[in-house]
Amino acid sequence: MPSQITYINSIASDLKSMINGDVSSIETDLLDVSQDFGGIVQKRPQVVVRPQNSMDVATAVKYALSNDLTLSSRAAGHSCSGQSLNQDGILLDMRSLNQIHEFYPDRLWFKADAGVTWRKIVDTSLPQGVIPPVLTNNFDVTIGGTLSAAGIGQNSFRYGCQADNCLGLEVVTGTGDLVWCSPDENSELFRHVLCGYGQFGIMTQIQHRLRPYRPFTRTYFLRFDDLDSLLTAERLLVSEDRVDGLLALFSPCMLGVARGGTGIQPLIQWFYRMQMTVEVDSTNDINQEQLLSDLNFQRHIYTEDLTFEQFIQPIAEVPHPAGDANPWLDMFLPASIAKDYIETALQRIPGFLDFRKTPVGSFCMSPKTIHNPLFPLPPEDLVIGFGMYPTIPKPQLPLVAEQLNALTELGFKMGGKRYLATWSDFGLPQWRLQFGEYWPTLNEMKRKYDPKGLLNPGFLQYESA
Ligand SMILES: Cc1cc2nc3c(=O)[nH]c(=O)nc-3n(C[C@H](O)[C@H](O)[C@H](O)COP(=O)(O)OP(=O)(O)OC[C@H]3O[C@@H](n4cnc5c(N)ncnc54)[C@H](O)[C@@H]3O)c2cc1C
Repeated sequence: MPSQITYINSIASDLKSMINGDVSSIETDLLDVSQDFGGIVQKRPQVVVRPQNSMDVATAVKYALSNDLTLSSRAAGHSCSGQSLNQDGILLDMRSLNQIHEFYPDRLWFKADAGVTWRKIVDTSLPQGVIPPVLTNNFDVTIGGTLSAAGIGQNSFRYGCQADNCLGLEVVTGTGDLVWCSPDENSELFRHVLCGYGQFGIMTQIQHRLRPYRPFTRTYFLRFDDLDSLLTAERLLVSEDRVDGLLALFSPCMLGVARGGTGIQPLIQWFYRMQMTVEVDSTNDINQEQLLSDLNFQRHIYTEDLTFEQFIQPIAEVPHPAGDANPWLDMFLPASIAKDYIETALQRIPGFLDFRKTPVGSFCMSPKTIHNPLFPLPPEDLVIGFGMYPTIPKPQLPLVAEQLNALTELGFKMGGKRYLATWSDFGLPQWRLQFGEYWPTLNEMKRKYDPKGLLNPGFLQYESA
């Protein structure tokens, strides 16, 4: 491949002559990739490239370099803040790289193209008695897309995020070089492409861990009336490694209205439903007394027995009407302040969201299982992830965004960090807070691996050199 590829004709016809995959500048193709799940940011590239192999990706990067164009990697487009969009440059639609190349249930790893969906991996692995250690609540996203974010599941307190289970990556850097990297080889690049939102390189192939699974699961649905007891129970379960899956969903209950100085106020009580799962060879093996006796919940609501295959399926499709926006927010909180933060957030939610329709919940993370500098977590043994997932009519966005920004600021003040796959509206001060002491290194890495700043501009902001 020539090291300099210079613009001759139109961008699309130039790229068509160099690339084995598909190249399009048709309006409908451009529109298809101009928005993401968030429905908040719109950007329109000049051309969409659907690469057929890793060399196509390298060629597109070199072409962008030589012609002062920007280039973004987009996969299933399930992020919420335009992370994968591109204005006036080249958009790489990574879903066309979709083959599983090697699959070894006995050696507990697979190697696949970055655009393969987790559904394809799960469908291949389940019949062979193995599974990726962590799965998110959506199988229609790609392995490259979630490894660029982190990929959190309800067992992340044990296995870390999906990126922690990556064994190696084939990457095209911002200089157009095709490089294999792993914890032992080009490890600096490896650590910055993972959770790097396409800012430091484009993953073309991924080697990823598998684990064996047990055939049955039992999930206990337990209701807590107060947050303190829920958080105490979660700490106990995680510290003793007593369960294989853990999450909590919060339900508001309208208990009527009350009169006060500011007029009539709704009286809302939040209830907390913990779902704790054990994975077993037989449900007869479960010692329920031992599992539940010290958890201090108010009511054991339900016991759900499923096969492992049924259990891991994502629970519901999320509707995505064109007129709606999804300003989702996940905050990672030090467990020591989680109660104060969550209580404040729950008090504020009814003031700006339809609280009856907004899913709200929490999950647990254990920073000792997380090894990625671009996925910062508060420095405590236990971290509580708190999430709000509103779907709102677009005209409501300014008001909702203002309130969510205020909750982000509060979270930062209390020592929290944000999950960047969801919605964010950061300026430089927020980016500095998000990455803390790592911020100067992150800027240095961007200059090293993407010196012309062509990869995915507009999401992360950097210090000027
Ligand atoms: C309904 C729903 C449920 C979700 N549940 C969870 C959950 O349980 N846990 C969780 O952690 N997240 C969850 N998410 C968030 C989702 O996992 C992330 O937004 C993820 O990044 C989406 O992957 P994607 O394939 O759609 O990537 P895109 O949204 O297309 O891209 C995301 C980022 O990855 C980059 N990227 C994509 N491909 C590559 C590549 N090959 N190389 C380098 N960079 C690349 C893009 O440039 C962009 O910055 C959920 C999202 C939705 C909409």
